[in-house]
Order: sequence, then C-alpha cells, then structure tokens
Amino acid sequence: MQATFHDLYAVRVQNLLFYTLKAFEAYPHLTHAIFTRQGGVSQAPFDSLNFSSTVGDNSQAVEQNIKLACRAIGITAPRTVSCYQVHRADILTIKRTNQQSVMGQADGLVTNEPDIYLLMRFADCTPLIFFDPVSNTIGLAHAGWRGTMQNVAGAAVDALVKLGCCSADILAVIGPSIGPCCYEVGTTVMQTARQSLSQPETLFYHPHEKTRLLEKSEFMKGETAYFNMWEANRRQLEAKGVRQIRQTSLCTACHTAEFFSHRAEQGQTGRFGVIIGLKSVV
Ligand SMILES: [Zn+2]
Repeated sequence: MQATFHDLYAVRVQNLLFYTLKAFEAYPHLTHAIFTRQGGVSQAPFDSLNFSSTVGDNSQAVEQNIKLACRAIGITAPRTVSCYQVHRADILTIKRTNQQSVMGQADGLVTNEPDIYLLMRFADCTPLIFFDPVSNTIGLAHAGWRGTMQNVAGAAVDALVKLGCCSADILAVIGPSIGPCCYEVGTTVMQTARQSLSQPETLFYHPHEKTRLLEKSEFMKGETAYFNMWEANRRQLEAKGVRQIRQTSLCTACHTAEFFSHRAEQGQTGRFGVIIGLKSVV
C-alpha cells in the first residue's frame, strides 16, 4: 500500500512502484518517472530498486534495477544519460553529438533533443525537474544543501534559457527530498546560508519548536535548526523568472518505505532514480 501524495500519480508495474507528475500529464510526448525504492533486486540496506553502484551495493544488481526501471517506462537503459553528482552547480547540455551514458561530473543535465533520457540519483537531496512545453526542452538537477547554497536551481534555469526557453514557460517541480520536518542542520549549513542565501533566517525553524521560524537574532547565534531546502530552491527558481513551480512537499526521511533517505537510514542506503526524456516522434 503506497501513500497518496498530492501532485503525483502512483504507477505500479508488477511490484515496481514509481510516480509521475500531474504537472506533466498533458504532454504525452514526455516520458518521466520518480522511482521509489520498491520493485528492484538489491538486498538490504539497498532494498530494493537502488540506482547507485557507488554506495556499496552489488553492481550487477544495480544494473538489473536500472534495466527494470527503464522497461517499466518503455525505454531501454542505453538511452539514459547520467553523471557523477558532486554537490556543485555545473550543468551540462546533452546533444546527440556529445551524448554518453555517463557524462562526467555535474549536478544538472538539460537537453532539447528527443530520445535522450536524463537520469539522476537521490536520497534526501532535492530533485529539480524541468519541462518547457513551448520549446520542448527538459532538465534535471540535484540540489543537496551544498548545491542549494551554490544556486544549482538558478544555474539549471540559465542553461535552459541558453537552449531557448523563456523562464516564464518553464514548469519546474521540486521533487521528493528531505523536508523541514526532518532536516536538522548545524553551524556549517547555517553559516554558509548566511553568506549564500537572501533572508536566510526565514528558511530555518527552531530546533525545539519545529513549526516556528527562527528570529534573526536566534539565527545569527544558533547552532542547530531545521532547514527548509524546498523553499530555498523555490525562491531561487522564482528569482530566475520561473513562475510555474510545483512543490511535491514529500519528505524522503518521513517515507522510508517508499524512498531511500540518507539521513533517516544513517547513510546506509541506496539511491532512487528520476528519469525524464522526450519521445522521438515517428
Ligand atoms: Zn520529514
């Protein structure tokens, strides 16, 4: 039994469960999925649809998982393009001419060519999923706290605009990731936020009264707080002129039956996949 989430449709293919976005449902030429951890072949603690071979899982199991996931959405694994995610803000533009299954280090991928399926991996970091139906351009980015401080969301929008998008046309989705309910952070994150984000105190909740935002003075001397990474990313998208932003508000640490959570599982876990691509028109 899966939970019901606003803005998402649950799709089950045998025992494999993934979500699609209501925001994208009007576009049949767009293929996308937010996979859960259900329906793969990996053993605990990577059970079971783990997409990452760099977390200690058996690489053959990971390969099989990606194959199963691709099959569930009607594509084949060789058509996916991924990268080594390194918590920075570099975005790569994928074309048929530079396409490789693994592109090197990056935290965002964009393309306007069909039959290129962008793939990234998550377990608490924020998936940012983009589609511009006017110019038929897609993007996918990975924003953990480090990426958020470096404005990877803004960098992804810049890359989409370079490909011909008008930011007002872009549909952006802030996907399942650790929420302000669970994301307790310490001085490193708070100090970096002071230098990197505008009005940072309005993104941090009190460590004991978890629904109360910190006062500015509390933020300046605070040592621990709950960080609202969703809102930080939403503001960065808005600052770039993106107006159509959907936030799934789905916390991975609250839903470990469906998603891998680095925090909730003390680092011993897998990564779930997100895939988006444009079908080639025959
Ligand atoms: Zn939570």
